[in-house]
Amino acid sequence: MSIVGRFAPSPTGNLHIGSLITAVASFCIAKRQNGSWLVRMEDVDEERCKTAFSDQILTDLTRLGLHWDGEIYYQSQNLERYHTILDNQLQHVSYGCDCSRKSIQTFLQKNNLVENSIYPKICEHKQLSRHNAIRLVMPDKRVEFLDKLQGNIVGNPQQEHGDIVVRRKAMPNSTQNPKGMINYMLAVVVDDIAQGVNQIVRGLDILPLTTAQLVIYDYLIIPRVQDYYHLPILVNDKGQKLSKQTLAEPICDYKPQDLLALALRFLGQAPVDKDKPEVMLQQAICQWDSTPLIGQKQMFCPRLNSFF
Ligand code: GLU
Repeated sequence: MSIVGRFAPSPTGNLHIGSLITAVASFCIAKRQNGSWLVRMEDVDEERCKTAFSDQILTDLTRLGLHWDGEIYYQSQNLERYHTILDNQLQHVSYGCDCSRKSIQTFLQKNNLVENSIYPKICEHKQLSRHNAIRLVMPDKRVEFLDKLQGNIVGNPQQEHGDIVVRRKAMPNSTQNPKGMINYMLAVVVDDIAQGVNQIVRGLDILPLTTAQLVIYDYLIIPRVQDYYHLPILVNDKGQKLSKQTLAEPICDYKPQDLLALALRFLGQAPVDKDKPEVMLQQAICQWDSTPLIGQKQMFCPRLNSFF
């Protein structure tokens, strides 16, 4: 079976060194196995995602020699796919919910349940209209998978997540999402299936969501992805994950050769000769070894200008 890997950034900001590491690792791991590597823009959130960011991400990837196979897939151009699957194949395992955050808190307090605990299924059997938010039932059972870097992972989707909101309440005046905004959890699985993705390399921050995503594969009667690699995440000097929220620096001001060398260093790879980005990546693919990443959870990353 040929490998299909992917890089799936959310264009809510520019690429930073953390997302670059994910891009480089997913690219090298797929190409090492003669696979293809797709790029998908996870832009379902019309408020947070900007075309300027997706364009800049693609410019950066190109400059870095990270050339994708096939066309770029934009989630915002495929919204109907999610609604159709949710309202048909997943209808029997989902339900309308009109709870607000406040009403859930009140319910939890009244029933002596711990605040911030999972959603207590208030609406599960009310048969509310599907114009409300839609929750997907998460089974109260053990779900297990083998991560190639982090080992055997066991979770209970109901106890960890509760029934997850997979579509927000419909907002008729929303231009992009009149049927309600689809949540990442549903979109990612639907798209990985639609694009034939069978290798998922991404940050460790998403590992806790994976068992819930596997439930969606099971609901859709599609074989689960077997090839997961959850990479250690980069943290700043305050121990926070490097992200747009923690104001990670954009990489667009740095030379591609320097960035690739740095990304490969973080990924525990043997150094490559400084050359054109494509040539550097070719060498990185030939000598790729995932072993140094096994069991790694996080890596400290100081400010980028301290490296160059
Ligand atoms: N779009 C997600 C992010 O940028 C990644 C999704 C995934 O790799 O499953 O964090």
